[in-house]
Amino acid sequence: MDPFGEMTDLGHEQVILCRNERVGLRAIIAIHDTTLGPALGGCRLFRYASDADALHDVLRLSRGMTYKAAVAGLDIGGGKAVIIGNPATKGEALFRAFGRHVDSLGGRYITAEDMNTNVQDMNYIRRETRWVTGASKQLGGSGDPSPVTAWGVYHGIRACLEVVHGSADVAGRTIAIQGVGNVGYHLASYLHDNGARLVYSDINHRNVKRAMDAFGGEVVEGDEYYAVECDVLAPCAIGGIINAHTVPTIRAPIIAGGANNVLANEVADCARLAERGIVYAPDYVVNAGGLMSVYAELRSFPAEKAMSDAEQVFNTVKRVLRKAEDEGVSTITASNRLAEERIEAVAHLQRLRV
Ligand code: NAD
Repeated sequence: MDPFGEMTDLGHEQVILCRNERVGLRAIIAIHDTTLGPALGGCRLFRYASDADALHDVLRLSRGMTYKAAVAGLDIGGGKAVIIGNPATKGEALFRAFGRHVDSLGGRYITAEDMNTNVQDMNYIRRETRWVTGASKQLGGSGDPSPVTAWGVYHGIRACLEVVHGSADVAGRTIAIQGVGNVGYHLASYLHDNGARLVYSDINHRNVKRAMDAFGGEVVEGDEYYAVECDVLAPCAIGGIINAHTVPTIRAPIIAGGANNVLANEVADCARLAERGIVYAPDYVVNAGGLMSVYAELRSFPAEKAMSDAEQVFNTVKRVLRKAEDEGVSTITASNRLAEERIEAVAHLQRLRV
């Protein structure tokens, strides 16, 4: 096996294997690119089938963070960590041991919440290192980022409406939200306040009831979601839901939501959507508000700064859609190019030492 293989292919700077036998910690930290600043990205805890799967995941996710931060215009690079283990047995010892590894990198990698880790876990890490974001507000953290994420999604939807209809106004538009959890609920609130009609789909009936009680609207079940007659599909639940099976059934002219990795196959599904004339705003551009929230914490900016940064998703989505049109490429390719161009421009300045 070539230990540098995938790391070289994806362009990583550094990959660190972390162990602590006494607490059963096995983790991998991947630093993809620090041209724009220190690598920031969440710490995922997952029972991977193999170490190779864990390595593949952390390499893929950390590269994604580089692109997300670059397109969002933030001065940070991309990184990610995975802890290989059972979420049911996690605890203080595990996260403190992980925190000491993070600390040893002296700020080259800054961690945050991700799948199966939460504010309490970040609080444990915080006891060992300052290089963690998303700890509780009492410890100086920024807390739950989902209101900021949803604010960015709201502005991403407005940008798509403006490109398609010439007006960004959501009043009278119908938006179908899949998943009314943290992000979806806040999105529903912003849309409702601005006069949109709402349709919900969620496997958790308590969350649907909470949204219905607060904002009214309609409910659809399961796969009915994809064929809803509406102006925008806003997926805010899970990844992989836009795929060969669902694309032919979609009636909405726009897809813009908060969920990560919404396309099952980035290249093929983006092409399928383009063939059907459906405007797809890349997920990592639209949902960058969460990253802006932890970035504001890192820089000690006031919380309002994160909200005003999230409004910039409007301009970024418009730039991506325009670039895709001008260069005759998919919207994913356009946003990836914007990210690469920004990194290259900053690398050029660094070479000139200005
Ligand atoms: P959450 O767990 O609070 O909410 C997810 C909701 O989706 C839940 O109500 C759940 O019941 C529902 N759901 C799950 N599977 C479903 C399915 N098959 N069909 C319909 N509904 C389903 O999570 P969240 O924090 O709101 O995050 C939602 C998505 O946004 C995730 O993909 C997450 O990675 C992404 N995201 C979140 C943030 C953030 O700030 N929380 C930031 C960036 C991206």
